[in-house]
Parts: sequence; structure tokens; C-alpha cells
Amino acid sequence: MIQRTHDLAAVALVSYYFLTYSPPSLNWETLLGIGVATFIGGIIPDIDNVASPAWKHKLTPWEGKASRDFLDGHRHLSHSLLGIFLFTWVLGLLLNTIKLPHLEVGLVQLAFFLGQLSHLIADTVTIEGVPWFYPIPFKIGIPPFKFMRIRTGGWVEKLIVFPLLLAFTIWIYYSHHEVIGKFLKI
Ligand SMILES: [Zn+2]
Repeated sequence: MIQRTHDLAAVALVSYYFLTYSPPSLNWETLLGIGVATFIGGIIPDIDNVASPAWKHKLTPWEGKASRDFLDGHRHLSHSLLGIFLFTWVLGLLLNTIKLPHLEVGLVQLAFFLGQLSHLIADTVTIEGVPWFYPIPFKIGIPPFKFMRIRTGGWVEKLIVFPLLLAFTIWIYYSHHEVIGKFLKI
């Protein structure tokens, strides 16, 4: 999937989770942390994709190829359960080291995890599939037949998947609008 779809999928899943299973309230620092963690989580699995924006600025002409050889192509560790647990753990270590006074680290980690999870789910319906159980080198895709899956950046993603995700996200906020008020410590 392309970045725009991943961003929206991350927002949809994190919003759905927090609005449905909401904690009693959230302070502003944690809310901001959840927002940032959602977007970064939604795109960070593509750090192993040399075509992703993260790799756009090459320091040397051979860097792209060297990175590709090193990471053994797209969709690897960062597109697996092992990878997203590892990244979430590292984020927790970082935030606990920095020690921001009001930040609820566990909730920010949860948003980061869900953001990454949404990325893996979205990529699972694409032709390439996702190595969920890496290092077991087995890419899983839904539906099981490749010709039935979605092409990244194709018309199905742009004209069907994205609008459906957008409608779902709007519905989540609309149907939980009374929760949003009590959610924030205003
Ligand atoms: Zn991806």
C-alpha cells in the first residue's frame, strides 16, 4: 500500500481501539504522543523498502543497492510480528530513558504497536504479502491467490480501499462522539 493509505489505516485502527476501549481520560502530552506514534508506527515498517520516502535521500550513489542487498529486499524484519514487537520495545526503552513527566508510555507504545499492525494488515492484502512470522521465510497474503490481491498504488487501492477506510474512520468518530469529550482532561 502507498503511504497515504497506511497513514489512514493507522489512524482508523488506533482511533477504533482507543474510542472503543477508552481509558478514563488522557492528558495532552499522552494524546500528542499517541498521535505521533500512530503516524510513525503506520509507516515505519517500510524502513526496509528502499523505494520508500525514508530512503529517498541517498548519501552515496551505491547506497540504495547496498541497503537492498543488506536488507535482502523489501518486506522483511520490519514487516513481521517479531519486528513490530521489537520496535515497540525499543520505543519504550527510549521514552523511559527520556522520562517526560506526564507521558503515559504504555499508551504511546500501544498506539505505536497498533500503527505498525495496521501496516502489516494493509500489506497482507497486496500481491507481495507479508512475512508475519519472520525469520520463517513465508509471506502470507489474503486472499491466498495472488491474482485476487491488490496492486500497491493501483485503482482498487485508490478508488475502493482508501474511500472505504475514510468512511470507516469518519463513522468511528461520529459514533463515538460522546466518548471524545470525557476522553480529554479539559
Ligand atoms: Zn509495507
